[in-house]
Amino acid sequence: MLMDALVKAKAAPGLELQRVEKPVPGPRDVLIKVLKTAICGTDLHIYNWDAWSQAHIAPPLVIGHEFVGQIEGMGSEVEHFRPGQVVSGEGHIVCGQCRNCRAGRGQWCMAHQSVGVSRPGAFAQYLVIPASNCIPIADGIDLEVVAFFDALGNATHTALSFDAVGEDILITGAGPIGMMACAIARHIGARHVVATDLSDYRLGLAKKLGATRTVNVTREKLEDVVRELGMTEGFDVGLEMSGAVSALESMIAAMRNGGEIALLGLFAQKPQLDMSQIILKGLGLRGIYGRRMYETWYKMAAMVQSGLDLQPLITHRFPYTRFEEAFTIMKTGNSGKIILEWSDKQ
Ligand SMILES: [Zn+2]
Ligand SMILES: [Zn+2]
Repeated sequence: MLMDALVKAKAAPGLELQRVEKPVPGPRDVLIKVLKTAICGTDLHIYNWDAWSQAHIAPPLVIGHEFVGQIEGMGSEVEHFRPGQVVSGEGHIVCGQCRNCRAGRGQWCMAHQSVGVSRPGAFAQYLVIPASNCIPIADGIDLEVVAFFDALGNATHTALSFDAVGEDILITGAGPIGMMACAIARHIGARHVVATDLSDYRLGLAKKLGATRTVNVTREKLEDVVRELGMTEGFDVGLEMSGAVSALESMIAAMRNGGEIALLGLFAQKPQLDMSQIILKGLGLRGIYGRRMYETWYKMAAMVQSGLDLQPLITHRFPYTRFEEAFTIMKTGNSGKIILEWSDKQ
């Protein structure tokens, strides 16, 4: 049996819509009929075939890892799922044997695989993942939002790393995950939620999602905004989503003594940090990778069910056959989340 899939066919820029073998689930796997997917920044890296992709992707590979689908079939050892059930899935497939896995900290597994990066992905009509990675979705949750639960999980894991309730939050980098972090910080009861970026388009979306003040750092200085807001000691919690050295530097300078910083953005260049400032201010810095397995999945679903509204984040929708248009828009940077529809033969 063949199916449609978006394939990184060769070691060069671009993607191809191809007919490939429909995957067959092993004894502990589920077969998922994909309904909707969302495009991640990682997919754009792979599309562009940048240095990171060249080091991590072995073509040919079906890419994609943000999806919602329905159970179509399952292996003989799988329990607790039924055909037709709506599901999403954790994209990191962990070894289950290392110390972190055995302690319930799978996000730090030393031997994990990634859906759509190191094993076949979700930009396809069907996907196979281990049943243990499959997440049942409760009725009534917007499937378009579920399509990017994997990314929302990154935002949730980062935004909930430190106690942000009643605190002042700085979010550097208003890409889709930064925008989601704005929405989460607001939802859980932060006071000032300040987002920085270089793009007015993205800051506009961040504002729609819940940023209380946006700062285009090409025109405004963060320290002026801190003063304008009447903050006397600095931000309590920083969420670094940009991977830009200058953003991290400005964050460290804008934190109050004893503040906490969660780092999600990957840095293309190595920052030269003022370590004395970090030490003397007593700052905490924590790297964030993936989603807590599986605590983050419960928390994000609960937040969506309790009113976290992420619809404004979705700016474009395309049938999967029009993936080229979707990636072209992604490249401009003027987009929130872009949904690819897989539910009907296009
Ligand atoms: Zn992603
Ligand atoms: Zn492990």
